[in-house]
Amino acid sequence: MHGDAEARTFVRRIYAGAAVVLALGIFALDALSPLQGAVAVLYTTVVVLVGRTHSRRLILWATGLCAVLAAVGYGVSHWSDPLGSPAMRLGVSLVALGVTTALFLRQLAESAERARSDARYRTIFSAAGFPIWESDWSGAFALLPGAVALDEPTIRRAFRSAWVRNANHAAARLFGLSDRTALIGATIDDYATPAAFETLARIYAALLRGETAVEVETTFQARAGDAVDVLLQISLPPDHDGWKRVLIMAVDVTERNRAQARLVQSQAALTHMSRVTTLGQLAASIAHEVNQPLSAIITYARSGLRWLEREGPGATETADCLQHIAGNAGRAADVIAGIRELARKADPSHESVVLETLVEDTEALLRRDLQAHEVALRITMEPGLPRLVGDRVQLQQVLMNLVLNAQQAMADLPPDAREMCLVAARDGDSVTVEVSDCGTGIDGDPEALFRPFFTTKADGMGMGLSICRSILEAHGGTLSARNQPGGGASFLLRLPAAADAEAIAA
Ligand code: ADP
Repeated sequence: MHGDAEARTFVRRIYAGAAVVLALGIFALDALSPLQGAVAVLYTTVVVLVGRTHSRRLILWATGLCAVLAAVGYGVSHWSDPLGSPAMRLGVSLVALGVTTALFLRQLAESAERARSDARYRTIFSAAGFPIWESDWSGAFALLPGAVALDEPTIRRAFRSAWVRNANHAAARLFGLSDRTALIGATIDDYATPAAFETLARIYAALLRGETAVEVETTFQARAGDAVDVLLQISLPPDHDGWKRVLIMAVDVTERNRAQARLVQSQAALTHMSRVTTLGQLAASIAHEVNQPLSAIITYARSGLRWLEREGPGATETADCLQHIAGNAGRAADVIAGIRELARKADPSHESVVLETLVEDTEALLRRDLQAHEVALRITMEPGLPRLVGDRVQLQQVLMNLVLNAQQAMADLPPDAREMCLVAARDGDSVTVEVSDCGTGIDGDPEALFRPFFTTKADGMGMGLSICRSILEAHGGTLSARNQPGGGASFLLRLPAAADAEAIAA
């Protein structure tokens, strides 16, 4: 640094010396030669010479010297002349000198401002706490517009030609490097994952369309092999000069994504737990449901045995008993299979769901419980409803919850008034299911019911409706509640029909 300053001072001195010699030469020409032109205008060349030093002080100093010399020159050769064209020539020369100086000073001020703004940019660049790097993508710019397709080999070739012009420490850390200099001048295609190449295709396509800012989320592979999820903002500055300067800012979202995955996992666990709790509530009626065919099996087995012990023909009757045994065993097995499916813990699936079957299964499972509570469930299904796409078990959980809530809301009514309706219909590209009762109705804001842990029941957990809503939202649907004009509450769920649902699932 010190050497630089010395060299600059030396150069300035040379320029200043040369300027003095030039100024004196012009003075001699002006004052001592018989030339009758505007020789003093040549003093502007002195300013131009000193202007190369970029020193404001030297420029002003040279202008002052030249003005004095021009005036002295005029005095020496034209002092006794009346005011006329020589005086005019002096005036023109002084104006030319002034204009030249003003132009140089303005240029100096502009370049000083530019230097300040560059310095500010560099400071922000290196001091930013998040990763920023500037890349040269001119290779891609030359290659891509002529490429037949943005296929993987082309994208890889384009990206391999890109190199990092500048990067801050945070960018180096993002790639697992200890120093930013290791990144500068390097290519970063070694850190790209297959996902990153897919994202790159999108970025290139957007830039080729003329977009100047693209935001994408992708995954890099840091030096140590760890996957790093990043949100990238790619910007082309106005002077990018054929993608020579592409600014890339990144936010490391690995931790956020992990937290989100953990949240999804715990939500799934909660949904499962809530389903198992509901099944627990139904234990008595489920036991009854299984017990009935078991009793029948025992009865038929005994009478079959009796037919066998008898003398004489009884084969037809025995076969009949065995058939009843098989039928009842099948019924019991079906009930158990249904329960096992509800109790199983599995990742949500995306299967084709027939609403009619879903409602039938739910009704079959709850029938005994509804009977025990003397509640009538009226089901109305519009014929030819479209299929749904989603997790059958989770959707059944929603229906079970709504029906059981309705049943509980009517517990204080006289038995013959305990009636609820389930109406399924098509509404444009959606399917709606409304479960309405004539129970207590909703006291206050219906939205409050969907808040986790909101319950008015002594033994309630307050998670049922909140879980139902998140299940439906994950299926691209909605769930809302309202009071019915004639009393009681009504819950409306809306799900996209299969074609739509497939798009959402994708
Ligand atoms: P829980 O059943 O454990 O209380 P839910 O989330 O299923 O949890 O229900 C939350 C609350 O919403 C219930 O405690 C009840 O106050 C209200 N609620 C739900 N369904 C109905 C309904 N059909 N009629 C009136 N209130 C209802």
